[in-house]
Order: sequence, then C-alpha cells, then structure tokens
Amino acid sequence: TKPVPADFIRAIITEDLAAGKHDEVVTRFPPEPNGYLHIGHAKSICLNFGLAREFTPARCHLRFDDTNPSKEEHEYVEAIKEDVRWLGFDWQEHLYFASDYFEQLYEYAEQLIKDGKAYVCELSAEEIRASRGTLTEPGTNSPHRERPREESLELFRRMRAGEFPDGAKVLRAKIDMASGNLNLRDPVLYRIMHRAHHRTGEQWCIYPMYDFTHPISDALEGVTHSLCTLEFADHRPLYDWILDNLPVPCRPRQIEFARLNLAYTVVSKRKLLQLVNEGFVQGWNDPRMPTLSGIRRRGYPPEAIRDFCRRIGLAKKDSLVDVGLLEHCVREQLNETAPRVMGVLEPLKVVITNYPEGQTEELTGQNHPQKPEFGTRPLPFSREIYIERRDFMEEPVKKFFRLAPGREVRLRYAYFIKCEEVVKDEAGEVVELRCTYDPATLGGNAPDGRKVKGTIHWVAAAQAVRAEVRLYDRLFTVESPEKAAADGADFKDFVNPDSLVALENCLLEPALAEAQPDQPYQFERQGYFCLDAKDSTPERPVFNRTATLRDTWSR
Ligand code: ATP
Ligand code: MG
Ligand code: MG
Repeated sequence: TKPVPADFIRAIITEDLAAGKHDEVVTRFPPEPNGYLHIGHAKSICLNFGLAREFTPARCHLRFDDTNPSKEEHEYVEAIKEDVRWLGFDWQEHLYFASDYFEQLYEYAEQLIKDGKAYVCELSAEEIRASRGTLTEPGTNSPHRERPREESLELFRRMRAGEFPDGAKVLRAKIDMASGNLNLRDPVLYRIMHRAHHRTGEQWCIYPMYDFTHPISDALEGVTHSLCTLEFADHRPLYDWILDNLPVPCRPRQIEFARLNLAYTVVSKRKLLQLVNEGFVQGWNDPRMPTLSGIRRRGYPPEAIRDFCRRIGLAKKDSLVDVGLLEHCVREQLNETAPRVMGVLEPLKVVITNYPEGQTEELTGQNHPQKPEFGTRPLPFSREIYIERRDFMEEPVKKFFRLAPGREVRLRYAYFIKCEEVVKDEAGEVVELRCTYDPATLGGNAPDGRKVKGTIHWVAAAQAVRAEVRLYDRLFTVESPEKAAADGADFKDFVNPDSLVALENCLLEPALAEAQPDQPYQFERQGYFCLDAKDSTPERPVFNRTATLRDTWSR
C-alpha cells in the first residue's frame, strides 16, 4: 500500500499521542441512515478507518446516527454496511447505533434540567427562529427560560410520556441568547415526534437533536478524535459545551476538514434522493450516480477509490475536485487488472469470400499483451465476422488508415483482409463488406513485407455473444450544479440528457459469455467495461462502460 501523505489531522494525532493524552486512537464513521453513501463519504471512511490502520493501537467505529425517524430506514443501514465493506474496511465488533443511547441521552438531558442548564420551551419552531436574532442582533429570551427546574423536569417527563402533540414543546439548552455564535443561543436538544423508529419502534416520541447526540455518543464510545466536515466548525463550541456540562466518561476532540465536492455531480444524499424519486436516474445504484453502489455497479474498483481519496488529501478549505482525477485513478487500476478482449459495439458484417465455407479455426488472443501471466484465450475465426462500423469509410478522409474500398487492414490476432466490395441496402446504407484474406499473414505480418497501417478488432459471427452495452457520460452538464442553481434555477435543470446511451446490438467475443459483474475487462480500443449486476440475464447480458481509454486528466 502506498504511504498516506502527512496532513494536519495526522499531525494532531501524532502530537496527542506524544503528549500521552491517549493510550489508543479511536475514530468513528457516523452516517445517518437516510440514504446511500456517496463518494464524499468515501473520503470520510478512508480517513477514519485509515487512521485506525495507521496508528497502533487504534480502532474505528461504525456508528449509525439514527436519531431522526422521519427520514431513516433499515434498508439504508444494510446498504451502508455493504458499501463500507466493499471499500475494504471493517469495523469488526465496533458497530453502534445512536438509538442505543436513547435512554442514556434522556438521563443526561434530565441532568441538565436539574442543573438549571436546560428548560422546556413552548415557543413554536418559527417563534424560536425569530427570537434567535442575527449575527448582528442578539436574540431575545424565551418567556419559559426562567421557569423553575422542577416545572421543566415535570414537563419533560410528560413529553416523554406522550402527553403533547408534535411541536408543542422542545427542550432547550440554557446557554447565551447574546452569544456571537448562533448555535449557542439556547439550541434545541429534544423535540416531540410521534413516529416509529426503525430500531426502537414506538418506544419513544421525543428524539434528541444531532448536536446533543453526537458529542455524547462520541464520549460514550471513547472516541478520541471526532472528525467531521467544515460546516460543523460553528457547532464545535456547542459540542464542547455539552461535554463540559455533563459527567461523560471521556473528552473527545472535534476536528474539521474540507468536504469532498466533485465536479459535474452532486454529493448530497438529499439531492441524490431527488434524482432517484423524480426518475432522473434508475435508482441509488444507477451507474451514473456518485454513490458507492452506483460506481461499484459501473465497475469502479475499490482500490481506485482509496487511491483517489489518498491523492486528494485533507485540507481546511472547501474545493471542487476534477472528476478527471477520479477517472484517472480508475484507469490506472484497471489497466493493471483488466484482461483485454474484443467487443464490437456497432457491428458491420464482413464476409471473407475466399475463406472456406463451413470452416472455423481457433486463433489465439493474449489476455494482457504487457503481462504474459494473464495467459491466452481461443478466438474462433471463420468466413463471417463483424467489425466496428466506424472502422470502415467508403470515402476515407486523410489519415484514416483503417478499412476502405480496395484497402487492406490487419485483424487483431488474425489475418490481413482487403475490402473488395461494398454491399448497400435500398436506402444506400452500407450493410456488408465483401473482403478477401491473405492466409500467409496470420500472426500479423506479410511474408512479402507489405505493410498495413491499421489494426482493428472483430468478432466471429457464429460464436459472438449478443449484448447491450451502456455508455455513460457525466450526470450534469455544468461543473457545479449547486452553484448553477444558485440564482433561482433547480440543480436538476442541469442534468445531462445524454448521460446514458444504450447500444442494443453489440457483438462480443465468446469469452464474455462467462463474465461476472466484479470482473473488469478492457474492450480493446474502446475502454473498460463490466457486466451489469442488475439488468443482465444469461440470454441478454448488459455491459457498462466503466471508463474510456483516453485520459483527459493531466497535471
Ligand atoms: P449528505 O449531505 O450527503 O446527507 P451528511 O454529511 O449529512 O451528507 P452523514 O451520513 O451525516 O451525511 O455523513 C457521515 C459522515 O460522512 C460525516 O462525518 C460527514 O461529515 C461525512 N461526509 C459526508 N459528506 C462528505 C463529503 N462530501 N466529504 C467528506 N466527508 C463527508
Ligand atoms: Mg449528517
Ligand atoms: Mg445530510
């Protein structure tokens, strides 16, 4: 494995260990199970689980931050676990749910009330927002702020008992309505929500807020370094306030880093959910989605995602990462691992008129010309074959060195063929080429020394595997759909209408009948492909183009 570059978080941890602050490094990856993980989460997973590998002793917890039953589902919990494993990480026995702490969280909330540090407030959500003030104006105290502790305690217990409807009351921390940090202006800690939870069922009708739950969950688990994205920097004083005011077993430290933003896509579960629900894509695992399940189905190897996360590094300032870098990592990985095969995406029939009818011979293809250890495979060859339509031009332009009337070209791993006749249908479209082959050219060279400039791929007609091949392009037409949507437009207005092109009648060499979804292939001259895990059937395989061969990323 390649070394991880030094960064400010690793520096802090190294320092903390040197100062003897901890015996063990403990991190956590804390997804909310309200959607599928995306490439942004991969950055956080690689960081948190990566640290647990680099430092010893160390561990990383997988904790589901499941405190909002209105958006969370069990389906997401399972999908998230699968994605983390796929990326190559393992939480071992350290699987946690914030909902397992509901009782403890409740007791801590009562403790704050008894200590005069929290109160039950009866303002509506709008009234609370309005009385919170602004950056330049202090907020105004709630009329319930000074109510006796006993009264708050009783009301809080009745909230738990289900005596009040949704929104009737909240529990708020009593901090400072004039604080320069809006998060400290008596933030809401609990709200009433009569809603079944995917794990605790009907047991609760009040639920703790993220800002209350998170520091306590970290502390209960012995987390030493709680790493989150920059938008939580403003919440850190509240994180610390909660820990300072409760008898928690340890004192985690929150550190923020820049979130990953990727060009030409969106990395927000909420927005990705809209794309799914409104039918812009076929599901969370649509191969165009930046979700881990989408890129897995598309054929991106987990090694490439880890390499990508290592290369983007960690910063304290948000930026937009070029998708070219991600694609570069994918190609670099697949170039090493993908066997080479031949697949014709837009077939044109070729009849080799001087090849004996009814005869088939077995030629040999190399599975990876640069790596002999990949071995070879048989390639049937006979009188009827298919070539790529774009490898023929009736009136060749300058620098076109492939097939044209009267011209000769090399068939990969086979013979030279020469185009003798062009057959057209009534509409004038070329439907077949009649060619001759030179039996002396097997192996790629002519004994008389004549040269051909082009080598093209092909498949034998009788043995070809008929397949659908899906070509993907960027999901959005603009670098930053969010920015483009800033002035009144909707980010979905920028969905690329041509992000999927399905070619229905592709012909692939027979070896691809055995393809499995997790096996990448390079279709020579075309790109990297994999069998689609969802829509393929034995009768009708579907292949996804993972990436083209050309690399547009440079630096
Ligand atoms: P989203 O806005 O997509 O719902 P989120 O931050 O609300 O993302 P969580 O499930 O709460 O999603 O995230 C789990 C962890 O992943 C958090 O620690 C969060 O900071 C981190 N994370 C989420 N998105 C990114 C991103 N784009 N880059 C880096 N880390 C991220
Ligand atoms: Mg979140
Ligand atoms: Mg979110």
